[in-house]
Amino acid sequence: MSKTVLITGASSGIGKASAQYFAAKGWNVIASMRTPEKETELVDNNHIFVTRLDVQHPETIELAIQQGITRFGKIDVVVNNAGYGQYGVFEAVTPEQVQEQFDVNVFGVMNTIRAILPHFRERKQGMIINISSGAGRFTLPLISLYNASKFALEGFSEALSFELAALNIGVKIVEPGGTTTNFIKVSEEKISLKPLPEYDRFINAAYQMFGKLKDMRLATAEEVAEVIYNATTDGTDTLRYLFGNDDFKKRVNNRLTMSDQDYVNSVKESYLPFMSA
Ligand code: NAP
Repeated sequence: MSKTVLITGASSGIGKASAQYFAAKGWNVIASMRTPEKETELVDNNHIFVTRLDVQHPETIELAIQQGITRFGKIDVVVNNAGYGQYGVFEAVTPEQVQEQFDVNVFGVMNTIRAILPHFRERKQGMIINISSGAGRFTLPLISLYNASKFALEGFSEALSFELAALNIGVKIVEPGGTTTNFIKVSEEKISLKPLPEYDRFINAAYQMFGKLKDMRLATAEEVAEVIYNATTDGTDTLRYLFGNDDFKKRVNNRLTMSDQDYVNSVKESYLPFMSA
């Protein structure tokens, strides 16, 4: 019997590529998204079930899971992929935007896991793959809220992996570096335009620092999908799967090997030279 994966945020980017990748490997795929009525590329067929799931609305998660089980008999794996980056200086972001960042990137993942666990417990097996980010491992200027949400996701996932291992349910974290998807566009749309001129020098310096990174090779969504598939099927209990370019790997490595203060100083050194008086 084919295995079944439920993927959140399958309308674009890494989620959509993963839906296509698992389907090509013969899996049944519950491709869940907020607006399935707009979906044109993933077509409902014997192996793909396109359905509504908004991680901010737990009743849609319950329904997608029930309908998926009805359609395919069981769910083996859940990929918590839905997410976005609330970028910009913290003070310019409204409390509602802070809440939404956590509602999607953290509480949405928790809602989905809470909804699938009874099924996994009943079947005495299951696998949860949480899509984190380099932003779950190292900090950068202008992304404090995205950092906060992915750091929370990392801590939650790591600790959860202990208690669920006892039930034969795996938890894994996939950490992509920069990937060509709608992510940057969505993040840029969500940047607050509230004018706070005192931050202008810092923001300009940070943008110049990021500008120096713009020629770095980005991963494709298909490459990340392959990492997710391999993490799902490699038969190990490896917790973290990093995937990105050399700069990305160096940053993660620096975070692990440098002292806290040395790491923070190295980030400051990358934008402070651009802070003209
Ligand atoms: P993307 O193309 O913008 O896709 C994000 C997906 O999340 C979309 O399907 C979006 O649905 C969905 N989503 C947003 N809010 C949702 C909600 N409330 N309920 C359900 N779905 C929701 O970006 P992506 O790069 O593929 O992002 C996927 C994951 O990878 C995210 O967790 C992101 O943090 C992570 N990541 C991305 C990168 C990168 O550089 N791209 C790097 C590291 C990690 P709609 O179409 O309805 O908006």
